[in-house]
Amino acid sequence: MSIQNDRYSRQTRFSPFGTEGQTRLSASTAVVVGCGALGTVQAALLARAGAGTIHLVDRDYVEESNLQRQMLYTEADATEAMPKAEAARRHLLEANSSIRIEAHVSDLNPENADELLRGAGVILDATDNFETRMLINDYAVREGIPWIYGAAVGSYGIAMPILPGDSACLRCIYPEPPRGLQPTCETAGVLGPLTSLIASIQAMEAIKILSARRDSVRRKIFTGDVWDGPIRETSMPPRDPDCACCGRREFTYLDGRRAPVSLCGRNAVQIHELRRPLDLVALARQLEGLGTVRSNEFALRFTTGGYEITAFPDGRAIIKGTTDIGLARGIYAKYIGG
Ligand SMILES: [Zn+2]
Repeated sequence: MSIQNDRYSRQTRFSPFGTEGQTRLSASTAVVVGCGALGTVQAALLARAGAGTIHLVDRDYVEESNLQRQMLYTEADATEAMPKAEAARRHLLEANSSIRIEAHVSDLNPENADELLRGAGVILDATDNFETRMLINDYAVREGIPWIYGAAVGSYGIAMPILPGDSACLRCIYPEPPRGLQPTCETAGVLGPLTSLIASIQAMEAIKILSARRDSVRRKIFTGDVWDGPIRETSMPPRDPDCACCGRREFTYLDGRRAPVSLCGRNAVQIHELRRPLDLVALARQLEGLGTVRSNEFALRFTTGGYEITAFPDGRAIIKGTTDIGLARGIYAKYIGG
């Protein structure tokens, strides 16, 4: 048997999935938003299962502290500061060269949501912040695309499929952003087995949706604490008929622009208000002599005065060494331009 015939035999032999499920899955498109701990596991499971097209969206680059849980990356990726979406694409193609994988080194925002999410059969949430999840929710509800919410911090995680027009949406459950200081992966840490568990639950529901097995989707909220327990499922609340998103169809998160945001997980600010392409070769020449410059075709890293600036071809930069947005903007203006 050729590898193509044999590759999926163990899952097609599982009768509720079968060869028909495989055919559907092979013709499907998934978008994975975020290529961190959740996204690498989701993408690996989808790619190996044979999802026909996978779009990977991530704004960030690989760092050493990612390797403990972000399953696709290697030490070489961290040393080279490879953009996560591109590094993930390369490693996934080594596992399955018969599918299409597109890397988008980009930050999902209201302006590019349509370009990045259009045509998805399912959207997998592997983000680390409330704003982006609400943006996904608005887009998914507006377009009628199922999406799978997931979050993990410390030893506790949650996963939940959201089926627009059918189940409650994220804003039915959380009408307002959470108040007060929320724990992050930086302040509370995060365990690799937890993120793999949550991502696996998400990937399974996504595979059911993509293989047209929607009746088998578990309409439950999965929660688990992998250190102390318990691990359980609870019923999803009903749709809120007065929900601003799926009830009144006010897609506020799709309106307007995002302000610069502090990144989860470290002492850094992302600047993405200047939407203009950056010539990294020219920038490298410009910065020579002002500090240490290293660059490849995907990113440029510049270190100076205790700050590490990573610039991307789409004009974004991540300024590491501060959480002060004003200061980060100043550093961007000084070295990259205003
Ligand atoms: Zn709703």
